[in-house]
Amino acid sequence: MDKLVQGIAAGGSIRVFSAITTNTVAEAIRRHQTSPTVSAALGRTMTGALMMGSSLKAFDRLTVKIESDGPVGGITAEASPGGKVRGYVKNAVAELPSKTNGKFDVSGVVGQGTFYVIREAGFDIGFRPEPYVGSVPIVSGEIAEDFAYYLAKSEQIPSAVMLGVLLQNSEPFVTASGGVMIQMLPGANEHLITMIEDTIAHAPHLTTLIDGSTHPADLLEIALGEIDFEILEESNIAFECTCSMEKARAMVTALGREEVESMLREQKGAAMNCGFCNENYSLGEADLTSILSELG
Ligand SMILES: [Zn+2]
Repeated sequence: MDKLVQGIAAGGSIRVFSAITTNTVAEAIRRHQTSPTVSAALGRTMTGALMMGSSLKAFDRLTVKIESDGPVGGITAEASPGGKVRGYVKNAVAELPSKTNGKFDVSGVVGQGTFYVIREAGFDIGFRPEPYVGSVPIVSGEIAEDFAYYLAKSEQIPSAVMLGVLLQNSEPFVTASGGVMIQMLPGANEHLITMIEDTIAHAPHLTTLIDGSTHPADLLEIALGEIDFEILEESNIAFECTCSMEKARAMVTALGREEVESMLREQKGAAMNCGFCNENYSLGEADLTSILSELG
């Protein structure tokens, strides 16, 4: 089971988050059949969204949306309370050659554009308040730097973010995935962030660390170096979508009698696909007939 931990460091002046998302990202990749570089980009975005959204309350939702002009076209990851995340990309099969250092060209596949964070509160209890939307230009496209830039510019939280997805033999099979997010609280010693950035810069590559780690706390230990930290909360995380056969059926019902009759006549059924998780739902003649009898 994938895990996320959150805690404090340096006597409470830093908030720390860390996650191992290997199975969660593997499930997203399996569902969307993404190319290796797009898998890395989607996995990093989902991991970042989970850490950023880990303080969500019941009925809250945090969406990270990258709209860009690179081959992938766009990436969306949505985190919900209880460590659930779902995500998708515009062009799953986009691909570019690896960079000269052998790393996936994530920034190339993402390109230029805008990094959005949308926070919604209470969206599922009958009222839909205006979502809070923050955005910054994409500064790197490698995703981790874009999360850090967003936190610094849009939320005035100096941060350090590491995200990594390791694929087996560069095929879209996830060997390891995870990340670390370090947020400085107001009044934190400015030298701390420089110290952490320096530790991170000299740490082995994140994916190598995740590959050898069984718990997110191991990642924090490496990212924080000498700095003391305390884990306050640990939770399970997983890929989970909110779609269901029941909702698919309700959507068809909402189309109304005339539309359902024409579906029954022309297609003898209805087929739907959930963009978030790529699940297919199909209703047959019997289902449509029963919807019609409910519509009266
Ligand atoms: Zn779905």
